[in-house]
Amino acid sequence: MLISKLDPNPKTKRYKTLKGAYRSIHKFLSEREAERTAFAILSGPEIGREEFHHSGEVPIEIKQSQENFYLSPAWLELRRQVLERDGFCCQLCGASPKEDKVKLEVDHIKERALYPELALTLSNLQTLCKPCHSAKTNHFNRKS
Ligand SMILES: [Zn+2]
Repeated sequence: MLISKLDPNPKTKRYKTLKGAYRSIHKFLSEREAERTAFAILSGPEIGREEFHHSGEVPIEIKQSQENFYLSPAWLELRRQVLERDGFCCQLCGASPKEDKVKLEVDHIKERALYPELALTLSNLQTLCKPCHSAKTNHFNRKS
């Protein structure tokens, strides 16, 4: 279950899918770009907690294949196992949502694109905070 709080008129909405939540937040922020005070908080077991202040920050264009994988029940279950195994903290820098207000993501140690057979292998997964994960993803990103 995903929940978003939309301000400045505090309002909580629930969404079944991440895509639906992102779309709704994107629309909400687009319509209120001029106000500059509007923001949205999105939270849910799959994504932790995300805050958006500008429609440009909302990742509405998720690649279809990626979205299917990251919303699959098999992945979501495995993701929960990885977070629990790693004690809900980043395996690189030790940051945690409680102490450091970071968002945690589950990383494929060996890239999913290159090792699809390891996509759902527990030992190939690790918990990283968003900054560490972004740094790693950018490092390995072969597109220029
Ligand atoms: Zn980290």
